[in-house]
Amino acid sequence: MKFEIKVEKVKESRISQFDPKNIGFGKLFTDHMFVADYKNGEWTDLRIVPYGPFDLSPATSAIHYGQSIFEGMKAFANVNNDHEITLFRPEENAKRLNRSAVRMAMPEIPEALFLQALNELLQLDRAWVPRTEGGALYVRPYMFATDDFIGVKPSDNYRFAIFCCPVGPYYNKALRVKVEEDFSRAAPGGVGFTKCAGNYGAALYPTALAQKEGYDQILWTDPIEHKFVEETGTTNFFAVFENEIVTPSLTHTLLAGITRESVIIGLKHLGYTVTERPLSVQELIDRNTEIKELFITGTAATLINLDGFGFRGTYYNVYDESRNQASQSVKKFLDDLKVCRVSDPFNWVEIL
Ligand SMILES: *Cc1c(COP(=O)(O)O)cnc(C)c1O
Repeated sequence: MKFEIKVEKVKESRISQFDPKNIGFGKLFTDHMFVADYKNGEWTDLRIVPYGPFDLSPATSAIHYGQSIFEGMKAFANVNNDHEITLFRPEENAKRLNRSAVRMAMPEIPEALFLQALNELLQLDRAWVPRTEGGALYVRPYMFATDDFIGVKPSDNYRFAIFCCPVGPYYNKALRVKVEEDFSRAAPGGVGFTKCAGNYGAALYPTALAQKEGYDQILWTDPIEHKFVEETGTTNFFAVFENEIVTPSLTHTLLAGITRESVIIGLKHLGYTVTERPLSVQELIDRNTEIKELFITGTAATLINLDGFGFRGTYYNVYDESRNQASQSVKKFLDDLKVCRVSDPFNWVEIL
């Protein structure tokens, strides 16, 4: 089914403000955005309009009660054809947004609508996709409750929008993470598996404390015993041992990263053994000398190596560039796939 999307183009493009050699992150937005409103049980007023502020009631229910979810994805320039851009597994983002929506008592977006809106917006703003090595157009689809009503109940009205901003190459410094035992990111039966806004707000304070101690990020542990490592809060976690690469199995407290799944499949494709299972902090300490590398994965950077982890005042350094073969080969494989530098054995790349 084709949805009817109205298009109002900008009078004058702002693209001259865009310097592909000096991009930064999240400050400059493309000319257009997609917006749709949910009213009387259906998505209406589908439109692409000039990027700009929303007019919202002070009682906007998302602000008070947190019905707010998002996705993060990237569009790339096809290295073989300057006129084409690519998306990586966009239908997975559509599905995950809907899983978040269901848990937060929000309406789902038909996958076909999500994909068509994304497609049409990117067609229009394709000139903003950086052609520079490592650059990409970051795409932010999101949905929030818009009732102007102060009672606690699921909102009747919602807004779904997509905007984009060009991003430069990610500077890949090996990160120091703190194994967190006092705070929890998520709880069983909670919303840890969703990309709901509150998960990120709630992580800022513990993360700031860890940063004061000299860490870059928190490595969250399971909320019951604080024995098993989970993820960092924006990325998933992998440990490379001599004969096995381990990533924590998915639970309700873990976010199922699309990069995580692609890294697992990619590593297997490259001949590595990958196991999804519970991974305890104790195992990381006991097998410390067997660890070839630790890394984290997410859309923003694809993959970042860890320098090491801190646990109860001891820092375990694992980083040794000569041993990070697995991470570098799978990162290269995925990064090359996304820009069509290598052929795509999994049909993951969509070309627009
Ligand atoms: C988005 C996110 C990730 C990474 O997911 P990708 O789909 O790989 O970008 C990991 N953990 C959390 C908590 C996240 O929000």
